[in-house]
Amino acid sequence: METAATGSEESGAAEGPVEAAAGREDGGCEGLWELPVERCVRRAECGRCSRPQKVCLCPFFPVHPLKVSTCLYIIQHPAEESRVLRTVPLLAACLPGDKCKVLIGRRFGEDRYPELAAVCRNSSTLILYPGAEAANLEEVALIFPSPSTIIIIDGTWSQAKDIFYKNSLFRLPKQVRCNALT
Ligand SMILES: [Zn+2]
Repeated sequence: METAATGSEESGAAEGPVEAAAGREDGGCEGLWELPVERCVRRAECGRCSRPQKVCLCPFFPVHPLKVSTCLYIIQHPAEESRVLRTVPLLAACLPGDKCKVLIGRRFGEDRYPELAAVCRNSSTLILYPGAEAANLEEVALIFPSPSTIIIIDGTWSQAKDIFYKNSLFRLPKQVRCNALT
């Protein structure tokens, strides 16, 4: 859930000048005052979309939450929560509060997550995860016109793979995939 287009936000670090200034033996420290200090200043964040206020995306969100019948369960890898581009808050901001649930972690046992376990056992729950077993979501939509819940794993491919294969609960729902965009 990330695009390269937004990845440049944290760039602009001035490693070169810092090293150059630190390495100088001529005793002058005037140059240090000219170094950018922005890196140390924590930028103000929008409380709704979690983006820096300068690039807040809230004006682009729908005024009212989208009306959806399907509930989304986002299973988020802990490392994903702290990434620069946090896409889950954007999704959550567009959906009614009771239609978007976010669970953060790596291991989801039945004992600790009885509600999730019940959702996984529900025959109208789908899990979005590619693989040989996965059915095409568009075809499944014809059979399940309105799935009660779709489970989505948020993380890098290897994090998502780890979560999917090491939690038996996630292999209970019908597995679906999105067709690659052509
Ligand atoms: Zn915002």
